[in-house]
Amino acid sequence: MIGIGKYDKRNCVLRKGISVLTHVEKAKELLKQEYHCSQALTGAFAEDFGFNARNAMKISTCFGSGMHRGGLCGCITAAMLVFGMAFGLYDPQDKELEVYGYKKAEEFYERFFEKMNGKVLCREILGADFSKPEELVRIRQEGLVQKICPHVLEMSIDIIEDILKEQEEDEAYIRLNLADSESTAEMQTVLKRVDKLQKFRKNVHDMLLTSDKKIGFIQFDIKRFKIINDLYGEKFGDEVLFFINDNLKKLCGDRQFFMNLRSDVFIVVTEYETEESLLDFINEIEGMLVSFKDVKIQLTFGVYSVEDKSMEIRQMEDRAAMARKSAKTNVLTNVLFYKEQFKELLYTRKFIEENMNIAVEEKQFKMYLQPKYSISQNKIVGAEALVRWIHPERGMVYPNEFIPVLEENGFIKLVDYYIWEEASRFIKKCADIGIEDCPISVNVSRHHLKDIEFMHVLVEDIKSNRIEKSLLELEITETVNDQQISQMAMQLKADGFTLLMDDFGSGYSSLSMLLETPFDVIKLDKKFMDNMMASEKGKLILEYVVAMAEKLGLGLLAEGVETREQVELLQKIGCDKVQGYYFAKPMPQEEFFELLKKERLAG
Ligand code: C2E
Ligand code: CA
Ligand code: CA
Repeated sequence: MIGIGKYDKRNCVLRKGISVLTHVEKAKELLKQEYHCSQALTGAFAEDFGFNARNAMKISTCFGSGMHRGGLCGCITAAMLVFGMAFGLYDPQDKELEVYGYKKAEEFYERFFEKMNGKVLCREILGADFSKPEELVRIRQEGLVQKICPHVLEMSIDIIEDILKEQEEDEAYIRLNLADSESTAEMQTVLKRVDKLQKFRKNVHDMLLTSDKKIGFIQFDIKRFKIINDLYGEKFGDEVLFFINDNLKKLCGDRQFFMNLRSDVFIVVTEYETEESLLDFINEIEGMLVSFKDVKIQLTFGVYSVEDKSMEIRQMEDRAAMARKSAKTNVLTNVLFYKEQFKELLYTRKFIEENMNIAVEEKQFKMYLQPKYSISQNKIVGAEALVRWIHPERGMVYPNEFIPVLEENGFIKLVDYYIWEEASRFIKKCADIGIEDCPISVNVSRHHLKDIEFMHVLVEDIKSNRIEKSLLELEITETVNDQQISQMAMQLKADGFTLLMDDFGSGYSSLSMLLETPFDVIKLDKKFMDNMMASEKGKLILEYVVAMAEKLGLGLLAEGVETREQVELLQKIGCDKVQGYYFAKPMPQEEFFELLKKERLAG
């Protein structure tokens, strides 16, 4: 069996020019060369596992034939082939391996099914049947494969990469590999872990049987643990985990059990009397772990309080896990119970996923524009394009509700493309009446930055509308020092695009991001500014940020300006450009056009 070792999600497999192709890029490249989806997917991964890509693609042709008959989407069958290459699935001589292979296949299928809202057949996904000649013509004419398949491919690759990555932590896999393992120390650790997990579950099981109190499953993890690892090193990350383990040991009594499930995910199972006392206990956990060696630790909790004690323990763990995952996207709280609130989130998510396709088709996404002002000149100096979803029944849906979901399933790309196109058209509309000094900035989701495709889209928008490149500005949100993103930004910059660093000060890495990536303008985050303005010390920091931007030759703009007081302070410290409700809220593009026309043509 081939072991995959540590799996890097951005595993790079091909070099082309200076850019390194990811699985997604490689698959899309193959798709462009008219290979079908199953070939593209198989070809993108084959070399990772020491297989010849061409041969692997030939083998996958049979899946393509199935697809031609209107069967399963080729991505599904190709995914099975990829897992086969990775793990040597389905060995009838080895029952455990067989069951294991079956589980992987199921996992992929379930996740695919969920993300595609149950669409698994090629004809359902394409909206046309490959096996019917007349529909084949339509597929070609309308370029349906080029329009729809890249999205499905990308999503499938995401799932495969996730499963391969999770693999590292999968005990079953570790156990299967024990025989191959050369290091006895490593074996010992693995055995200890498996043993510990069994003991933990046995204890919980006994408690469920004997307790007459309520039982709560609390699962938590560390917010942005990856960033802590990236910034301070993995050794430090390990120390943090030891620290948590030690503290949980101290905190947990006889009827409380905990386990470090994997990486930074912990579970604690406890008896409790009232919900309040359970929350107190969570507060206690949080209180013990606020920081380690001056590094702030923030936790996200998911809680499942057991209703039916005969349920499988794994299922109870799962429910706590689901609650934790939804707590991650909840801005209001870091503790969520698995119950109504959670169902509501799921409901919203379901609504978004079920309606997003129609929303694009029916042009329910609208571009709003929020003016940017110069305080000293008292005039509009640009605008930011912000998407709104106007749903015929639900009314206005705000980006904070739907963007996290679209970011997760990759659909954000389509929405962004639409907004960029609208922004380009708007710029052209202004140019047509002689207004050529109002750049529009668009948001570029970090999803795009993994893939060069988006640059072609931008260039095409600019070309087809015959507008100045400098009038379409790009807002990029800071991320952890991601080299790939910095590289892409460098390329954008070399191509003459203006780059705005969005949300400066809201994350961990604003300053290092500034060093790595050639931005032109910094946008001060609203929260950052609000925090800073609350104290004299903060105001001083703000003043130095303004000075720093000036020294570095960067433009500066303050976001979310709401009060006269803020305007005065910004003016005093030399930040002239502002965007915020104090001046104007985001408005429909037609309204902004009238506003701009009135201002420019009057003066
Ligand atoms: P952002 O890029 O930081 O956009 C600024 C957000 O602050 C906007 O929220 C805007 O309406 C809001 N805002 C502006 N002035 C004020 C103010 O004075 N006070 C307050 N409280 N808020 C103010 P919006 O439009 O709801 O967008 C939220 C986020 O969604 C955006 O944050 C951006 O990250 C994302 N987003 C919006 N449109 C798009 C888009 O077309 N594509 C992508 N990828 N993301 C988008
Ligand atoms: Ca923005
Ligand atoms: Ca922002």
